Amino acid sequence: MAMKSKVLIVGGTGYLGKRLVKASLAQGHETYVLHREEIGVDIEKVQMLLSFKQQGAHLVTGSLNDHQSLVKVVKLVDVVICAISGVHIRSHQILLQLKLVDAIKEAGNVKRFLPSEFGTDPARMENAMEPGRVTFDDKMVVRSAIEEAGIPFTYISANCFAGYFLGGLCQPGFILPSREQVRLLGDGNQKAIYVDEDDIATYSIKTIDDPRTLNKTVYIRPPQNILSQREVVQIWEKLIGKELLKSSISEQEFLAIMKEQDYTEQVGLTHYYHVCYEGCLANFEIGDGAEEASKLYPEVKYTTVEEYMTRYL
Ligand code: NDP
Repeated sequence: MAMKSKVLIVGGTGYLGKRLVKASLAQGHETYVLHREEIGVDIEKVQMLLSFKQQGAHLVTGSLNDHQSLVKVVKLVDVVICAISGVHIRSHQILLQLKLVDAIKEAGNVKRFLPSEFGTDPARMENAMEPGRVTFDDKMVVRSAIEEAGIPFTYISANCFAGYFLGGLCQPGFILPSREQVRLLGDGNQKAIYVDEDDIATYSIKTIDDPRTLNKTVYIRPPQNILSQREVVQIWEKLIGKELLKSSISEQEFLAIMKEQDYTEQVGLTHYYHVCYEGCLANFEIGDGAEEASKLYPEVKYTTVEEYMTRYL
């Protein structure tokens, strides 16, 4: 059997990053996690890093501000996965990855790089609205740097993190489902795609040693999880045995309210607009030169929307 690649995870203490560490260890990869010097005495992060070590990961010290330290850790591995933050209401550091790209280029040994993407495919968002387009634009800047440096890559388009979208019944600003009411975005009939964050990590790790995913975008589209907001609400109603009171917010109202919010809120709302009013995640066929994860890895038993939502009961 071919040797499994050694993996370095940057941003391993993050919401998705910690799941990537877990999945990498679970799939038998020697796993290195970057311990950034800047986290200092952040006790929660340090404790999390120590727990990774107890589970078998190696902690390696370095900094995105110290090129040589990065080159040194990159040289230890075959694959680098970055899950640096990219949600404005939390933190948005996508362009910091350019420093990682420089280090990977200099190290010269990396067989695959997965940058921090894990959402809407930025290559399909050239007409995205301001100000949310910054997420896609920055991710495209990182892609250009990767491709110009000739670094082998896989881009993971993970669609909607279930925690944000299912938790809030697809309503921005909510991450727990109401048992009383829901506001539908428009008619609530646009399809979106919801993926359990642990499944995103599992599929992502599956791609790293797979020649079929080299220099390609991999979309994660679990077939049972391609649903409209109305269908998500129906699943929740079935689980709680009760119908919710429904109202609706028109496209015009949504955009008008958006303009009154601060910048970070507006970024998130633009993303909801593209997903829920335009259907940007599910309104295209995956063409040549890209792959779909649940087809590539049918052995992964992904979490369905209904299974995911039982946690809120
Ligand atoms: P987090 O906000 O949880 O942050 C991840 C990591 O970013 C942290 O662990 C931290 O690493 C690192 N980081 C933060 N600030 C800095 C800094 N100044 N310098 C260096 N590192 C820093 O990230 P998420 O898990 O929320 O996001 C990961 C990816 O997933 C992003 O690309 C994002 O756009 C995408 N995403 C997609 C969603 C979807 O629905 N499809 C939803 C949410 C995110 P350290 O511990 O070293 O400080």
